[in-house]
Amino acid sequence: MRDRPIYESGEYIFSVGMYLLISLLLVNCSTQSSGDLSTQELVEARSKVLLISFDGFRADYLSSEQSPFLQELSRNGARSEGLIPVFPSKTFPNHYAIAVGLYPENNGIIGNSMVDSVMGKSYSLGDREQVENPNWYQGEPIWNTAEKQGVRAGTMFWVGSEAPIQDIRPTHWKSYDGTVPDSARIDTVLAWLGSDSSSEVDFATVYFSFLDSQGHRYGTDAPQTKKALQRVDALMSYLMQQLASKGLDQETNIVLVSDHGMHNVSRERVVTLDSFIDIDRVRWISGSPSVTLNIEPSYRMQAYQELRKAQENGAPFNVYLKQDIPERFRYKNHDRTPDLLLLANLGYTITTTDRLDSRPNFQSGGAHGYDPTHPEMHAVFMAIGPDIVPGSTLPPFEVVHVYELLAHLLGIAPAPNDGSLETFEGILYD
Ligand code: AMP
Ligand code: ZN
Ligand code: ZN
Repeated sequence: MRDRPIYESGEYIFSVGMYLLISLLLVNCSTQSSGDLSTQELVEARSKVLLISFDGFRADYLSSEQSPFLQELSRNGARSEGLIPVFPSKTFPNHYAIAVGLYPENNGIIGNSMVDSVMGKSYSLGDREQVENPNWYQGEPIWNTAEKQGVRAGTMFWVGSEAPIQDIRPTHWKSYDGTVPDSARIDTVLAWLGSDSSSEVDFATVYFSFLDSQGHRYGTDAPQTKKALQRVDALMSYLMQQLASKGLDQETNIVLVSDHGMHNVSRERVVTLDSFIDIDRVRWISGSPSVTLNIEPSYRMQAYQELRKAQENGAPFNVYLKQDIPERFRYKNHDRTPDLLLLANLGYTITTTDRLDSRPNFQSGGAHGYDPTHPEMHAVFMAIGPDIVPGSTLPPFEVVHVYELLAHLLGIAPAPNDGSLETFEGILYD
């Protein structure tokens, strides 16, 4: 593990207890309903909002033995049975959909990797130049909505926040650097939220990747992944303790999300694409389990028909031509959507014979990117703070709604989006 542990167990238990006490006081103080306030009063009464993402935090991880602090926290706030990702259930499409409240076909981030033939460019999450190129990003991210309305924002990593979308950047933003220690990320956002100078922000984001990394490497039930969950719990405990010690707890709403879940994969559940089609005649754009291919027109229908035949004969995937991709994915109506989508069944991996043969340990651990309707792909959602009804719960809902919640909590007018504030009726005061 990269960082030193933040808590010895005694301190940790103390912090859980202290936070619960503070929460109880908070509950008693928070009967004010924002619905009774004028717009002016709303702005004055505005709470701060901290949006937190732990990448790859599957919805049911929350009830595991490893998350006692988070479970208590959710009992004092709101939680959902699951946050349903957009398709594909990958990091970039989902973090950006959370930020703008739009489905991928309306926001342009249709994958971790994609190609735009008009721009003549390819995008991938490791390509800094493209990640910071605003032309990839459509819609209005929440930090822009905030800044446009005089609410300062700071992003300690979030997909899209490194690009000057609409020529705007958050007051504070950071180029993604996975080596920044997790506790330092928390200290930075708390300094931004708690500053009494012009660098103060009312909205901040913070992002962590370690849980996703362990889920990929070791699988969902491995001791290493459980340890990562304990680390999430300790970080949240540290965060809440720091928030209280800075006197920010009574004015800050915390919204904790993830981008997708995780499911175990194995070498016994692998299919090789070259068993069905000539892979030298296709351009492979994004990888398993939601494989996207661009195919030269002269070979496209033949490749599709071969894959379709395989599917009908029981191969563990669904193949779609672009125009036949299910509407419910909200994915096909974009120029960047590739010619062909090959979507593996839950738990299966699509690769090539070469790759399989050259890597004896391929494939183990966990993966995501499957159909978002699988509960295994659902992510965590919880919220706590002065504007959140304690002990409230929500049924599963889609990530595109979160933008509306953030705008509401910040007291700002949302830009047009695909979400609805009604989703959150059960967790907000009338
Ligand atoms: P995924 O496998 O789809 O969950 O992708 C997870 C990876 O996305 C993490 O391991 C991070 O390294 C990476 N990531 C997250 N945010 C960013 C960012 N803003 N820029 C570049 N890479 C990122
Ligand atoms: Zn992710
Ligand atoms: Zn991942």
